[in-house]
Amino acid sequence: MRQVKGFVHSIETFGTVDGDGIRFVLFLAGCKLGCKFCHNPDSWNIAAGEPMSAEEVIAQVQSYRAYYEATGGGLTISGGDPLVQPEFTAEILRQAKSAGINTCLETSGHGDSDKFGKLVQLADSVMYGLKGFSTEVYRKLTAHDGSLVRRNLKLLGRSKSQARLRYLVIPGVTDTDEELTQLSRFLRDLPCDFVVEPIAYHTMGIPKWEALGRPYQLEDLRPPTSEEMEQFILSLRGHGLKVLGDSPSAGTRRSA
Ligand code: SF4
Repeated sequence: MRQVKGFVHSIETFGTVDGDGIRFVLFLAGCKLGCKFCHNPDSWNIAAGEPMSAEEVIAQVQSYRAYYEATGGGLTISGGDPLVQPEFTAEILRQAKSAGINTCLETSGHGDSDKFGKLVQLADSVMYGLKGFSTEVYRKLTAHDGSLVRRNLKLLGRSKSQARLRYLVIPGVTDTDEELTQLSRFLRDLPCDFVVEPIAYHTMGIPKWEALGRPYQLEDLRPPTSEEMEQFILSLRGHGLKVLGDSPSAGTRRSA
């Protein structure tokens, strides 16, 4: 049988923030979104990753399996972005499913829609990273306009009954009423129960950009204060969006 191989940036065997429970987090090499704040710009180059086969990945997950199962955890495939290596990601998801290992796909959504749709079908759950919502904000923060991200978000909303949106909070840029109005309108008609996890912007990536000899272009932005994060959560709820950790009845449930 042909082995499917890919390129791995790094592995976290005891991940606690990338999905439910304790998880094996596989950070794949390669990302094409080009976020100007990325704290891992060294993960963009697929060729800089370590070659590994899907079998080798699953064998490593199996050796820690008891921890994951005891906590309701499993395997999270992250990056970089898994959409840059869709065949490798699909093969790992297939083998994990055969082995009864819970899986989560963590992606920015910037990739081929057909391939994204297949990966969504294979994964038990999806965490979808939004860097804001509008074309203007994506242009400000990334190398693209976000159109692929929005298209795949719609696809996700029509394919899965639930998903977690990890939303980057940057004061005055992504936390505005305008961004949340556009996002909530977009999500309103989708038959998926989304929950939003606010992620605070930080500047810990700046030293990496300096080490790579690249200028950091977002010097004018700052991280949110804890009060601004609290206010943002209230704004999410005010727009009818459910926040991670809310009770099932909180927010607006979008049903089919
Ligand atoms: S999606 Fe993630 S890995 Fe890719 S550029 Fe943005 S922050 Fe970096």
